[in-house]
Amino acid sequence: MAKHLSGELTGRTALVTGAGGGIGAACARRLAAAGARVLVVDMRAEPAAKVAAEVGGLAVVADLSDPGFTAALPDEPVDIVVNNAGFQHVAPIEEFPPDVFGTMLRVMVEAPFLIARAVLPGMYARGWGRFVNISSVHGLRASPYKSAYTAAKHGLEGFSKVVALEGAPHGVTSTSVCPAYVRTGLVEAQIEDQARVHGIAPDEVVSDIMLEPAAIKRLIEPEEVADLVAYLCGPSGSFVTGVSLPVDGGWTAR
Ligand code: NAD
Repeated sequence: MAKHLSGELTGRTALVTGAGGGIGAACARRLAAAGARVLVVDMRAEPAAKVAAEVGGLAVVADLSDPGFTAALPDEPVDIVVNNAGFQHVAPIEEFPPDVFGTMLRVMVEAPFLIARAVLPGMYARGWGRFVNISSVHGLRASPYKSAYTAAKHGLEGFSKVVALEGAPHGVTSTSVCPAYVRTGLVEAQIEDQARVHGIAPDEVVSDIMLEPAAIKRLIEPEEVADLVAYLCGPSGSFVTGVSLPVDGGWTAR
């Protein structure tokens, strides 16, 4: 933990979606270390409970693909939202299952809208709020076979900018963080998928596909993404809004 942020979020409540694992769990730990109370939202009950217990927060079991999920959110003020829940599906457009396309848009674009709609009035009343949207380099660039993911992340980034514009007079900021490949379960699962659609061996997927566009040839760790999220939620991030911040090892420099 970077000591300089300790205590900076004391008194704030952070809602982190998909916080049962990967980047979301790292964000939950990092924000809690900075003093925030964390609502650990995930559709998987056991991992959510485990992370919540670890950070002294509250587990909220909710499936963000069901628009009724907001009923599961606790009735308490939320100061920080990290829209992180997401998943991947890799297939050519002509074979891409329409129901998976729809679910991805619901989880990664509609759910952040529904959360914002629920918590913004309270943030406006208190004059302070932070949204950090875990987008992707695919919010800025496209890749073949990732039609739903690229569309959803571009959509999330557009939505984030609107929150930034509407929220600014009320002390609310909204940013997008755009990582390249992070070492999480989502990436592990993709290696097999990508090997199949590209017709190559799984061990070639990391070196020849995942790391090919980046200048720095390594995966990012979830904690590195969480550090940036904590910066954006802390006092030093107060003038950063409406932007997309790549943590992509130089991918978008091309
Ligand atoms: P992960 O699979 O490790 O964790 C995702 C979490 O979200 C899981 O705990 C899962 O249960 C939860 N989740 C998924 N669908 C949900 C739903 N419908 N309702 C509630 N919870 C749900 O994935 P990760 O790699 O940590 O990814 C987190 C975010 O970061 C995603 O939005 C992903 O697109 C983004 N991202 C990941 C990478 C990467 O390389 N791993 C790169 C860029 C962006």
